[in-house]
Amino acid sequence: MVKINRQGCIGCGNCPSVCPEVFEMADDGKASVKKGQAKSANPCVDKAIEECPVNVISK
Ligand code: SF4
Repeated sequence: MVKINRQGCIGCGNCPSVCPEVFEMADDGKASVKKGQAKSANPCVDKAIEECPVNVISK
């Protein structure tokens, strides 16, 4: 399951930028996993995990 520990997200915008199929910015300024994408096997998820500056994305 692709997950974001949203409490720790600093809203940098990187994950939706490198992996727009799976991540989006929510109204509160933090990232979320798009509806229906929690089981995504898209390789861009790995890039988003690697690049998150506060390491709050996991799968
Ligand atoms: S890359 Fe990390 S800190 Fe940046 S928006 Fe995504 S989850 Fe938040």
